[in-house]
Amino acid sequence: MPRAELKCTSCGRTIPGPGATQFLCPSCGEASIGRCQRCRDQSVLYHCPKCGFDGP
Ligand SMILES: [Zn+2]
Ligand SMILES: [Zn+2]
Repeated sequence: MPRAELKCTSCGRTIPGPGATQFLCPSCGEASIGRCQRCRDQSVLYHCPKCGFDGP
């Protein structure tokens, strides 16, 4: 899986390397969720584009 275009699912911005995490949606296990350092710190909810799951 290419990692060049990792975007934060919460704020929609491209994530600049360190501090960013990427994981599969815990609900459907298919969609790739990206989170930037900022949204992690603030515990911003993410929204799965595939199944509509909302999680912290
Ligand atoms: Zn973000
Ligand atoms: Zn999902």
